[in-house]
Amino acid sequence: MLDTVKKLDIPVMFNTKVIEITSDPILRATGVKAVVDDEELVTIVAKGGVIVATGGFHANKEMIARYMGGNTAWMPIRGSTCLTGENISLTQKFNPMYVNMDQFHGGPIHGPTRANPSIMVNYGLLVKYDGTRFIDEVETYVRVAKSMPILIPDNKAFIIIDDQVTGIST
Ligand SMILES: Cc1cc2nc3c(=O)[nH]c(=O)nc-3n(C[C@H](O)[C@H](O)[C@H](O)COP(=O)(O)OP(=O)(O)OC[C@H]3O[C@@H](n4cnc5c(N)ncnc54)[C@H](O)[C@@H]3O)c2cc1C
Repeated sequence: MLDTVKKLDIPVMFNTKVIEITSDPILRATGVKAVVDDEELVTIVAKGGVIVATGGFHANKEMIARYMGGNTAWMPIRGSTCLTGENISLTQKFNPMYVNMDQFHGGPIHGPTRANPSIMVNYGLLVKYDGTRFIDEVETYVRVAKSMPILIPDNKAFIIIDDQVTGIST
């Protein structure tokens, strides 16, 4: 992609945060306003509209609570902390129809290291701090992760495995 971008002489701007999609009086997108290197405000005029590719909103807890439900906001994130929902906040003035806002992928993670223990989830016993099981371990790891903040208020559990599991690789 970068080769093609170079070939077509398309400018690429890093460390540039779009803060507004500009529009004409009948709400056609005309470009963006952006902040470069945290200091300079620039206006970029678009000839044929603006394509928004700013990712999702997983680093914005208020939006997670609003669109996915309060329990989900308890989940730690593994992705970039830059993804704070500009795909929605910047486009809201155009009154778009947002769909599937409550859908997301999730999995259990090891809290201190943010490592992904998914391979272990279907082998061990999942227990709460008091040692009691809370879910059928044959559920997919996505279902386990999504159920945890609903079933366990502080969203933390242990996996009890034996040493055969530590030898399994993905
Ligand atoms: C831990 C983890 C593991 C994953 N594993 C897989 C996998 O195995 N397979 C798979 O298919 N997918 C996987 N995914 C999902 C995949 O990474 C995403 O679906 C994909 O990166 C989304 O691409 P995107 O281009 O829409 O957004 P992103 O890759 O999130 O890119 C959005 C970009 O927009 C920039 N941006 C945001 N706001 C602004 C703004 N206001 N102005 C300017 N720029 C802005 C961000 O800095 C970022 O560079 C994984 C995700 C995570 C977090």
